[in-house]
Order: sequence, then C-alpha cells, then structure tokens
Amino acid sequence: MREALSLSLSEWQNYLQSIGEAKYRARQIFSWIHEKLIFHPAEFSNIPKPLRDLLQKNFLWPQITLIRQVQDEKGVTKFLFKSEKKVFEAVFLPFPNRISACISVQSGCSLDCTFCATGKMQFFGNLSVQEILWQVYFMQKAFKKKITNVVFMGMGEPFFNYENSLKAADILNAKEGQNIGARHITLSTSGVLPGIQKFIEEKRNYSLALSVHAATEKKRKKLMDIESRYPLSNIITYLENNRSKIRSNGLTFEYILIANENMEKDDAKALAQLAKKVNAKINLIPLNTNYHSYQRPSEQEIIHFQNLLRNEGVLAFNRKSPGLKIQGACGMLAAEINHD
Ligand code: SF4
Repeated sequence: MREALSLSLSEWQNYLQSIGEAKYRARQIFSWIHEKLIFHPAEFSNIPKPLRDLLQKNFLWPQITLIRQVQDEKGVTKFLFKSEKKVFEAVFLPFPNRISACISVQSGCSLDCTFCATGKMQFFGNLSVQEILWQVYFMQKAFKKKITNVVFMGMGEPFFNYENSLKAADILNAKEGQNIGARHITLSTSGVLPGIQKFIEEKRNYSLALSVHAATEKKRKKLMDIESRYPLSNIITYLENNRSKIRSNGLTFEYILIANENMEKDDAKALAQLAKKVNAKINLIPLNTNYHSYQRPSEQEIIHFQNLLRNEGVLAFNRKSPGLKIQGACGMLAAEINHD
C-alpha cells in the first residue's frame, strides 16, 4: 500500500484517473495534505464521502510516534520520532528572520564520520518521503509557525536516499503545498559524487551544501570514511567543470572546526583554494561532540581561522550551532532510546 504523503500532485492525478474520478480532485487532496496539513481523509470536507473512505482504506496514513522532545531557552527544539522500527530526529530552529527545520533522511547513517554521533548509532535504513515530510509538517503544526527554510542536515546522507530526499524537497517546494522556495531548501552531502552529478545534471535548483571538513586527502580521510570512496579532489574537478550549471550562491562548504586537527594556516589556504575554484561560500561549524578526544576550538581560535580564510580572499561564516545544550546541534543527533 502506498503512503499518502509520498504522492506528488501528478501521482494523485494518475491515481484518481485510474479509479474514474475527476482529475481536479487531485489538487484538492494534495492541498488538504500538503497545504492544510490534515492527514485524516474524514476531514476532507470538499471530497465526497465514498472517495474519502477509499482514500482511508487504500493508503497508509502517517503512524509516526513522538518519543521525546527537548527545548532550550531559545526555543530550539529537538524531536525524536519512531516509525515502525525506524527512529529519527528533527530540530526546530527559530531565528529572528526565519524558521528553519533541520530534518533527517535516514534512520542513523551508513557512514561513520569520526566526529558525528549519528554514525555511531545503529543504522535502520532510509526514510520514506512520508517520514521525511512528516518532520517538517509535525513541527509546523506543533508551533503554529510557518517553516520558511528546510535543511536536509539531520541524520543520514541525502544522496544515499536520493529519490526520496528529492521527492520530499519537490513536494515542499510545490506551490499547491507549502511552497517553500528552492533557495530555502538545502541538501547537505558528505560528498557522494554520483548523487552530486545527478543533482546537477537534473538542474535541481535547491541549495547544495558539501561537507568538506578537511581540504587535504590525508586529513579528510581521518575524519570522513567517504573520502576513500569519493575523493574530494574528484568532486571539486567535477564541480569546476560544471560551474555554469550551479545556481549562483547555490553552493556552500560546511567545515567542522576541530582544535589541533584542521585549523592550521595550511588548512585555511587549501580550503580557500577549493572554495575559489567552485565559487563556494564557507560555513564554519565549531565541533559539538567530543569523540576521539577531539576538542572544540576557543572563540579566539575560531576568529583566527576565519581571518586566515579572509586573508585568502574568501568569506566564511561562523555558524553558532544552535541546539548545543539539547544535543540538537550539528553532528549530535543520535536518537538515544532503547530499540525493542
Ligand atoms: S556527518 Fe552526516 S554523513 Fe557523516 S556520519 Fe554524520 S550523518 Fe552520516
């Protein structure tokens, strides 16, 4: 049985035509689900009762349980959900000028970046489109606030769940649904080259964040196992050769700052060179975890590294890692419950 939230507008049209219903009903149903965020067909008041009953019977409607939520003093809230055997987390991030949702695409992660809590938990597999969208819709309903930005930066690697991640992004972007602008939807990859190629060849307009974390092969291999599979140098070459296909301001480098690991002058130089090649902005993220005795740098060290990059002619922003106190900041999502 198909999951109701996972159908695009055109899939609803095809389904309704296949059962002899009028095509315009698709827009009504899509709007109930993705615009009004109502997930009970019985409440679809402009849909005839026999069709409402059919929708209830023929589709899987969300059965996702909220296990826990924690909030810090700034309103940043982390949610832990469970759907069948899969657990996953999402973070609600209220900023003065926008409301962001950081969402997961997998339950756990098949990769194991050495600084990341998600890679240490058990991997339960890909999330469905319905499970991905649920996170945004649940938070919007819970806070009664319009979510303006969505970042696919929670648990998992979006390009290892490419079809579901992109379909969820398309549904969030749909004008008949939440109509979140493509620039306000960011997919973050650890560097899965085939996924990056597909994303660019398909001319996707969403923002793309590439987790760099170290600009040289040796240091990156130490931090990210993906480097052995898809070396950063190959990704940069591909991006360089396809610069014209990347939307301006569409590419960001994410760079975790780890004291005494990736913050030397040479690191800044190498990082700046790569950023210039592909016209990327840089987000600096001070380390939030403490695996392998890694240490978060001091404010002074962060500013120093930022200045090194500035001297190399690139702009780097210090992301303040909201959610640190509630284990909801970058690299901290680990769905800590007992799985039975
Ligand atoms: S940083 Fe991202 S890709 Fe790496 S282990 Fe964590 S969730 Fe997976």
